Amino acid sequence: MSDYTTMTREELIAELEALQRHIRLQQTVIPEPADPDSKKSRVLLEAVLEQSPCGVLVACPRTGRVIFVNDEACRIDGVDKASHLAIDLNSLDQLAWTLHYPDGSPMLLTETPLAKATLFGKKVRTQEILLRRSDGTECWVLCNSNPLFDEKGELHSGIVTFVEITDHKNTTTETMFCDATYLRILGTGVDAYYKADMQGRLVMANIAAARILGYEHPDEIIGKHIASTFYESPEERVTFMQELLGRGKTISYPLCLKSTAGTPVMVEVSARLIPDAKGGYQGVEGLFRDVTAKAQAEEQLRRSEFFYRKLFENTGAATVLLDSSGRINRVNSQAEELSGYTKEELEGKKHWQDMIDPEDLGWMVDYHQRRISDGPPPPNEYDFTLVDKQGNKKFVRARIDFMQETGERIVCMADLTSRRKMEKELEELNHKLEILVTERTEALHKKNLELEAANQRLLELDEIKSNMLSSVSHELRTPLTSIMGFAKVTRNTFEKYFSQLLLTHKTLTPRASTISSNLGIITREGERLSRLINELLDLAHVESGQFRWNDTLCDMSELLSLSVASAYGEFQDKADVVFKFSIPENLPFIFADKDKIQQVVLNLLNNAAKFTEKGEVVLSVTADTHWIHISIADTGMGIPEHLLQHIFDKFYTVRTNDTLHASAVGTGLGLALCSQVVEHYGGKINVTSSPGQGSTFEICLPVAK
Ligand code: ADP
Repeated sequence: MSDYTTMTREELIAELEALQRHIRLQQTVIPEPADPDSKKSRVLLEAVLEQSPCGVLVACPRTGRVIFVNDEACRIDGVDKASHLAIDLNSLDQLAWTLHYPDGSPMLLTETPLAKATLFGKKVRTQEILLRRSDGTECWVLCNSNPLFDEKGELHSGIVTFVEITDHKNTTTETMFCDATYLRILGTGVDAYYKADMQGRLVMANIAAARILGYEHPDEIIGKHIASTFYESPEERVTFMQELLGRGKTISYPLCLKSTAGTPVMVEVSARLIPDAKGGYQGVEGLFRDVTAKAQAEEQLRRSEFFYRKLFENTGAATVLLDSSGRINRVNSQAEELSGYTKEELEGKKHWQDMIDPEDLGWMVDYHQRRISDGPPPPNEYDFTLVDKQGNKKFVRARIDFMQETGERIVCMADLTSRRKMEKELEELNHKLEILVTERTEALHKKNLELEAANQRLLELDEIKSNMLSSVSHELRTPLTSIMGFAKVTRNTFEKYFSQLLLTHKTLTPRASTISSNLGIITREGERLSRLINELLDLAHVESGQFRWNDTLCDMSELLSLSVASAYGEFQDKADVVFKFSIPENLPFIFADKDKIQQVVLNLLNNAAKFTEKGEVVLSVTADTHWIHISIADTGMGIPEHLLQHIFDKFYTVRTNDTLHASAVGTGLGLALCSQVVEHYGGKINVTSSPGQGSTFEICLPVAK
C-alpha cells in the first residue's frame, strides 16, 4: 500500500488515474451480474476496492443512489456506509457533510464529481475539494470521477475516487501555494515544473521547463546535472541549496540559468525539499518561470530612471518639478542652492508660492491661472523675485513647461542676481562716464576755442611779420643797392687812380691794397645781403600767398638744360668734382612758373656743388604719364640723419667746425623756398643722405594735363 503522506501531488494524481483505469476495465462489475463468474469477479473487485487506499464511491444514474462505498471513503468523509448508501444525488438535500471549492464557497450536490459522472456522464480530473465533516473538522481531498458506459454506450454508473491530501496542503500547498507570488506565477500557466534528486540530477521536468531552457522536449534534459548544465555560475547552486536546506523552501528565488544556446535566462524559482520516509530528503521540486524579459525591462526602467535622474540633476539650471497642485515634487542640487533649502525640506513639503516675493505673488498666481485656462497661453519665460530660506531676495529668470497628461510643471531657473547687480553697476558707471565725457568735451571745446583764437592771432602775427619783412626787405634793398654801387665805384676809382700813385710809396702800398680788399669785401657781403633779402622777400611772398605765379607750359627738357648751363660755373673751381647730367629730349611739359622751377633746380645744384669736394654730382630725370622725377645726387659731405627733418626749415643750416665749409654756409632759406614752390604745384621734395658719402635730393612734379 502506498504512503500517501510522502507522495507528491503528481504521484497522487498518477495513483488516482491508475485506479480509475483499473475500475474502467471492470465496467460490468457494479450492476448485479446474472452469471456466477461475473458475480465472483464482482465480489473480487469489491474486495479490491475495499482494500484500496483511495476512497471509492459508485452511484447508479437511474436511481441517483450510491451503490458502493469503501472504508477509506467512510474514514475520509467521517460517516458510515449506511449514510453513504442513503445519498440520493437527485434530491436537493444537503449531505451530512459539506463540500467546498478551494476558495471556501459551497459546492452543490449536483456539482460534486460523483454527481457529474453519474448524472451527466462527465469526467472530473484531480479536483481539489475542501470537505467539512459533520463534526466540524475539515480535510482536503483530491478527486477523480468517471462515468461508466455499457457495451451499448449507455451510462450505467459513475465512480469517484479520492484521497486525502490535507497533510500535503499543510506541508506543501499551504506553505508554497499560499504565497501570493507563487499563486500569481501559477495562474499564468507558463510555469516550468522540475524535480531533482539530492545529487542534483534532473529527474522530472515539464515542457515549459524544457522550452525555457531552449529544448524541445523534457526528455532532452532529464538526467542532466542541473548545476553544470543549466546554471550560468554552477557555484550558485550551493547558495541555492543552502537557502533551501535552511528554510525548507524558496519563494521566487532569482537565479541566472543558461539556455542550450548559451544565452542567460533569468528565472525565479519557488522550490521545496521532498522528504523521504526516513526523515531525510529524496530531492527537490519546484516551479520556475522565465523573468528575463521582466529583468531586462526592470533594468531598462532602472537605467532610464537613473538617466532621467542624472539629466534632471545636470540640467545646468535650478530645476523643480511641481505636481498639478503646485507642490514641489522633485528638485535638483542647483535648486537646493538657489532656495537655500535641502531636498528633504522641499520635496513633497513646499509649494512654489512659499518662495515668492509677496510683490510678485499676485501676478504669478494670475499667470498660472492663465496657463491652465482656455485662452491664449502667456509666454513660458518670465522674471520674478525669489525669497530664499535665509530671506535673501534673488532675481530669477524662470522657464516653465506644462505636461498636459499629468498636469505637472517643470520649472528651470537661472539666478540673475549678480548679473542684475553688474548691469546696475555698469549703468551707474556709464552714467558717470557720460558726465565725465560731457565735462571733458566741454573742456576740450573751450581749449579748442582758445587754440582757434591763438591760431588766429598767430596768423595775424604771421601776416604782420610777412608784411613787415616784405616792407623792411624792400626798404633795405634800396640803400643796399646804393652801398654796393658806391663800393664798386669807389673800389674801381681807387684802383684806377690811387693805387698806381702809391706803388712807389713803401708804407702806403700795403694800406692801399687793404683798402681795395676791404672794398671788395663790402661788395661781396653786400651781394650776399642782397641775395638774402631777395630770398626773404620771395619766401615772404610765397608764404603770404601774395606771390604772383607766372604759370605757363614749361618744356622740362629745355628748362633743365638752361638750369644745368647756369649751374655749370659753380663746378669750374672744383677740379675734383665731375658734374654729370642726362636730360632726355621730349620730356613732358609741366604747367608752372618757369623761373621759380628753374630757381629750385639751380638751388639744389648749387648746394650739391657747395657741399661736395670730391667725386661727382649727377642730375638725372625720369618721367611717366603723371609725374616727372628729377634727382640730384652728390658724393659730398652728406647730412646727419637726425638733422634731415630740419633742413627744409627756414634759416636752417648745418653747423660744422669744418673751416673749409664755413664760407659755404648760406642763408638757410634756399631749401625752405624749394619746398614751398614744389608743394605749391602739388609735388614732393625728398632727401636721403649718408654722412661722408653724399646726399640725393629728389623732386617730383605733376605732368601738365
Ligand atoms: P644754404 O643757403 O645754407 O645752403 P639751404 O636751405 O639751401 O641753405 O640749405 C640748408 C642747409 O642744408 C645747408 O646749410 C646745408 O647744411 C644743408 N645742405 C643742403 N644741401 C646739401 C647737400 N647737397 N649736401 C650737404 N648738405 C646740404
